[in-house]
Amino acid sequence: MFVSTLDKTIRVGLREAVVAGMPVSGGLYRPLDLPFVSSELQKSFRNAEFPEIAHTLAELLIADDVPSPTLQEICRDAFNFPVNLKRLIDDSFVLELFHGPTLAFKDFGARFLARLLGWFQRGENRPITVLTATSGDTGGAVASGFYLVPGVRVVILYPKGRISVVQERQIGTLGKNITALAVRGSFDECQGMVKAALADPELRRRLSLTTANSINAGRLLPQIFYYFYALSRLSGSKKSTFVTVPSGNFGNITAAAMARKMGLPIDHLVAATTINDTVCRYLESGRWNPGTVHSTLATAMDIADPNNFPRLLELYARDRLHLGREVTASVVTDDQIRETIVRTKSKMAYLFDPHSAAGWQASERFMAAQSSSWRGISVATAHPVKFRETIEPLIGEQIELPLSLQSVLERPMTSETLEADISVWKEWLREWENR
Ligand SMILES: *Cc1c(COP(=O)(O)O)cnc(C)c1O
Repeated sequence: MFVSTLDKTIRVGLREAVVAGMPVSGGLYRPLDLPFVSSELQKSFRNAEFPEIAHTLAELLIADDVPSPTLQEICRDAFNFPVNLKRLIDDSFVLELFHGPTLAFKDFGARFLARLLGWFQRGENRPITVLTATSGDTGGAVASGFYLVPGVRVVILYPKGRISVVQERQIGTLGKNITALAVRGSFDECQGMVKAALADPELRRRLSLTTANSINAGRLLPQIFYYFYALSRLSGSKKSTFVTVPSGNFGNITAAAMARKMGLPIDHLVAATTINDTVCRYLESGRWNPGTVHSTLATAMDIADPNNFPRLLELYARDRLHLGREVTASVVTDDQIRETIVRTKSKMAYLFDPHSAAGWQASERFMAAQSSSWRGISVATAHPVKFRETIEPLIGEQIELPLSLQSVLERPMTSETLEADISVWKEWLREWENR
């Protein structure tokens, strides 16, 4: 059962939460209760592979809505790539979440959501249409995750000329049930077009429109799984454990806080942010004052008004001081990101992408402020090769492209180009429906 963050009387099942994305009256869906995972069960995770752990947790969370054998199949199919926990130095670890097909952690959420929607769509003869606006990483993960999923068609809007070459290829070369639209405008205009279509009752009904943005509960749940996995890979210890998450919309760190509430022994959370420091200022002052967005090297974290934050605050009973005792927000500048990338490469032979470097910097800071009885897990959200334009000049070396990416770069583009105009866009959708 899922409940609205704004109105406790609005309660829906998983299907409605996932297909609608968010309550019509505003707010977000959050699970009504979180199941408790006993330490016995957590011990059994030590010898289990990631898809098995995911299946066990998914069963606890949503077995009322989806039968267990289906969940098992979804988990095996969605999580068919490695998750690595690496020790970099002393008590500091990196959790690598970037080994999926589009080389960023968003593959976990997008692949799980795609298969859930595909299952809910079984036996329906009318396809549903997923609209997504992207500034980069989400589009690739959604395109790859939904590719060839029966009963689901996807339209991805991105700002033409404003995303990286790799990102554009990941979105615009698949074809089949994935349509890519290069919009002559900004990301905000793309998002405005998606919202306008969703707000049009006639289009919404005719095309069975939904969206796959990061507030969809179907993207949030699978992010809980890898925190359980990570701690199962650490040996028993008397030390306290903190986890650092590079944060933009604060979805990933909300999943970590949910895992903690389910009984995972995480003693503290650190949210690394860019100079878009709304949450940090809020924790200090109690004032929510997003202001304008600043561009940084960690583009996926350039968010002034994080849309998952209400769900995080809800986990701490909307008590800012309580949240502040258990979650630290740590602001990292571009200079500090550059410094971290160069230093960890030379001292530890480890290459971070700009987002994960911000996380590592925040981890080092937290560790330095504690006594010696802590150990830290720093989440790495993207593969460095995705941001090689930034990294190569810093380290004075070229980063080798993985084979999967080489083949993406060789495929022809199938994107169409569209003006950033609501009536042109709606006309385009009506015409596209009949293709
Ligand atoms: C999306 C993204 C983030 C931010 O994750 P949130 O869940 O929005 O906080 C961080 N790093 C990378 C590489 C991303 O793509």
